[in-house]
Amino acid sequence: MNTEQLDSIMRSSGAVAWGVATAESVDSEAWERRERWISDGNNARMDYLDRYPDVRRDPRNLLEEARSVIVAAYSYYPSRRQPADAPQFAWYAYGRDYHEVVRARLERVASRLDEVYDGARFRICVDTAPLMERYWAVKAGVGFVGRNAQLIVPGHGSACFLGEIVTTIPLPASTPSEGACPDGCDLCIRACPGGAISRECTVDARRCLSYLTIEHRGAFTDGMPQLGRRIYGCDACQSACPLNRGISPTDIPEFLPSEALMSLTDSDIATLTPERFSSIFSHSAVKRAKLAGLLRNLSALTPRSAAGPPSEDKI
Ligand code: SF4
Repeated sequence: MNTEQLDSIMRSSGAVAWGVATAESVDSEAWERRERWISDGNNARMDYLDRYPDVRRDPRNLLEEARSVIVAAYSYYPSRRQPADAPQFAWYAYGRDYHEVVRARLERVASRLDEVYDGARFRICVDTAPLMERYWAVKAGVGFVGRNAQLIVPGHGSACFLGEIVTTIPLPASTPSEGACPDGCDLCIRACPGGAISRECTVDARRCLSYLTIEHRGAFTDGMPQLGRRIYGCDACQSACPLNRGISPTDIPEFLPSEALMSLTDSDIATLTPERFSSIFSHSAVKRAKLAGLLRNLSALTPRSAAGPPSEDKI
């Protein structure tokens, strides 16, 4: 299969960008940077990020005899936003759970490849395996890592889900990305409500509202950043980023905003039953926070009357 044929398969899966990296050990500089990030405690209580270092270091430990890592980016950039006074959900949660959607699309890619490459093996990863996915995305030429630690796909911004196919097929490697943020830009650093972003392209999860509203379990403690109106996730750095302006919204139907989510009010959430939560969110990434998490976040929101527009809109 030549690159044009593979491109056609990837584009028809809905990928806005894709590329191939050779399956090999992560280079020492990237690995040491990651180890430092963990040892400085930036992963907060996400202990799972420190597990399976051998797999994380080398995708050949995920799939024996792997030769290539295909990385694909799928835009979720929304065509519209929630009303400013609504409890705010992260853009990525507006539509269906990307784990299901991207996996289904990559499974179709893998089965097309399987028809051509007899005996090939595949491992599909959508945030489900200990892969350093942004590292592989840069290696595969899909984009570069911005100062907010998000992968930025040129022309499509940072509102993109990543998925990978690790495979035994020896595909030609793409040219790694050499992109970078514009000189002197620090809009995301200034926009971050918790001051979580450093100039060295790292994010401290302990100060990140995305982590705190989704992954953090238990009560909020004094000194944590204020949520404002953010009930699930945070897009302050993405909203501030000039590379996310003037780009086309997603055309993947499953990522279009769910009306049930977009119209939720504070009182709708306060009165959610487990059944209603399940009916709205069973195919949504929001289920990760669980009903208890949403209710905890709701109680920490700035009241509607005092909120004004979300802080990213003031920039
Ligand atoms: S806001 Fe500026 S510094 Fe931050 S990710 Fe975007 S381009 Fe890079």
